[in-house]
Amino acid sequence: MSDLRDLTDQMRAFSEERDWVQFHDPKSLLLALVGEVGELSELMQWLPAGEIVGRAAEEPLASRLGEELADVQLYLVRLADVLGVDLAEAARLKLSTGRRRFPTETVRGEAPLKS
Ligand SMILES: [Mg+2]
Repeated sequence: MSDLRDLTDQMRAFSEERDWVQFHDPKSLLLALVGEVGELSELMQWLPAGEIVGRAAEEPLASRLGEELADVQLYLVRLADVLGVDLAEAARLKLSTGRRRFPTETVRGEAPLKS
């Protein structure tokens, strides 16, 4: 079983055991996900961009980043589960599309323009 499938199953069981499935409509899960992205953003908002990677290795920021990234992942996994989306397969498909859209020989070292 994949790690993502295992996380999906654990989140579903966690929700069912607490009778929280009733609150897990897609819109509510999306808003929870956005809230967690906000908490993650808060950790970085006033740090100079060039210093974040270095400071991410230091406590307490390292632990806080792990917590908020996990919150984001768990809500994303739960949202995909409720919507019936196979998140791992969808991500593999997007990556495959990205490889075709941005061939290495034409975009290497260039920031792709939004189209
Ligand atoms: Mg959080």
